[in-house]
Amino acid sequence: MSRPAPVILSFRRTFALLILLVVLPSAGLSGFGVVAIINERAAVEKRLEAAWRGTLADLSAEVPRALGSGRLERVGTERLAFLLPDDQELSDPDGTFHVENGLVRTKDPQLAEALAALVPEAASLPTVPTVFSLATNGRAVMVAAERQGATVRGVRLSGVALDGLLSDKAQGRATSEPVRFTLLPVPRDTSSEGGIVNRLMSEVAQARQNALGPPVLAERVLSAPLQDFRLVVLPTGEDPVASASTRNRAVYGVLLGLFYLTLTFGVGYTARVLYREARLSRMKTDFVSLVSHELRTPLTSIRMFIETLALGRLKDPAQQQEVLNLLTKETERLSDLIERVLDWARIESGRKVYQRESLPVTDVVDAAVAAFRTQRHGDGMEFTVKVEDGLPHVEVDRVAVAGALLNLLQNAYKYSGPTHRRIALRAQRDGGYVNLSVEDNGVGIARKDRKRIFERFYRVDNLLTRKTEGSGLGLAISKRIVDAHGGRITVKSEPGQGSCFTLQLPVGRA
Ligand code: ADP
Repeated sequence: MSRPAPVILSFRRTFALLILLVVLPSAGLSGFGVVAIINERAAVEKRLEAAWRGTLADLSAEVPRALGSGRLERVGTERLAFLLPDDQELSDPDGTFHVENGLVRTKDPQLAEALAALVPEAASLPTVPTVFSLATNGRAVMVAAERQGATVRGVRLSGVALDGLLSDKAQGRATSEPVRFTLLPVPRDTSSEGGIVNRLMSEVAQARQNALGPPVLAERVLSAPLQDFRLVVLPTGEDPVASASTRNRAVYGVLLGLFYLTLTFGVGYTARVLYREARLSRMKTDFVSLVSHELRTPLTSIRMFIETLALGRLKDPAQQQEVLNLLTKETERLSDLIERVLDWARIESGRKVYQRESLPVTDVVDAAVAAFRTQRHGDGMEFTVKVEDGLPHVEVDRVAVAGALLNLLQNAYKYSGPTHRRIALRAQRDGGYVNLSVEDNGVGIARKDRKRIFERFYRVDNLLTRKTEGSGLGLAISKRIVDAHGGRITVKSEPGQGSCFTLQLPVGRA
């Protein structure tokens, strides 16, 4: 029974922890964002109101001051006009009134009703023009009046003219949203009178008014004697609260989307790196046990041979020679393996220096073939070498590239089964490259392994590989060497049908 490797287990645990640490806070963050969006309209309203509060305070001081500087003038016989020092008229042409002997005289019946409250106090009104507000039955008017002896004369101020005055005063106080300032009556508070039903009714009426008219963005009730009016800020175009909150939502949505996108990318990337590291560390462990095993086997044989010789068991000089040959072979294997590990260490740490020189391709091929022939001396195989005529020079480190080629030849030999081995080495030109290819009729390589065999420590998991000595470093080293020369290493292979590895070396700049 096979147990999952502990490294992979710890990878899963680390990954689960990562997900937990990332997903929980981000879910919390998103939830918080949603709550913020729900409450956002109120927040925007508050912010806008705060932005206009200062302007409202200034205007509510300036307007009464401006009104205080006005004068009443007779126009024609009956009509009165309320004029500011710059002759701007604020009065309503039909709003002239007189209060004499306890009687109100005006053309406007509603004004007459409102003025009824003024009659008892007529005698105490100041003799200079004064502006004040009056309210009856939920309606409010603003009037300018003055006393002349026992008579009070005055005029109702026009809403339109007052709005004009306000917009003059508000000019220069630019706000980012398109708004206008206006005066509206203070809604009559009926809540204190008449119990729950009345209160409900008035609230419903207020809600309907809000729904119908433009929403009031900010307001401020004027102080006495204009206390029946409030200064309000109304949007002129679309509701700035709605547009600001739509904008905020869009920005939040985009940010949230980006956040999750980067989060997904980050988690995916980290998982990949973690997984690779876990796999690498497992391969390293395999490598250490493999190398130790590979070192032990030749050492054991060497010890046995030496003991045999030392005990003088072999009298026949021919037998002695054979043992000595075997000893040489085993020590060669040992030093080969150690050399490969050291080579890898040099390449990995960046200490490997390549001595490049411009050489004929045959130099590289001959060096590799000579070494291969020495190693495989006497082994039954069909080995052919074909070098195209007139190949250009290549600019390479001869020892390193010949080593890479030798490794391909050794692999072709190792992974070709015991009988009928056919290995062909070809050197030919291919555009700007010289291709050195090694073809065998061996076990071949499955598609899923083809990419990975160039990874360090990777060995295909099959019976032949398990029986064959190796470190999983050969192809990785070959690839690094060829890469360093600006070349490529490729493989074509099908399981059971042999493999063809090709080293592509760029043609040297002569
Ligand atoms: P090793 O020391 O195991 O030979 P390599 O890096 O040279 O290491 O090769 C990696 C793996 O690729 C080998 O273990 C083997 O399974 C596979 N391989 C390499 N060359 C061949 C080939 N010519 N035919 C089949 N399999 C091969």
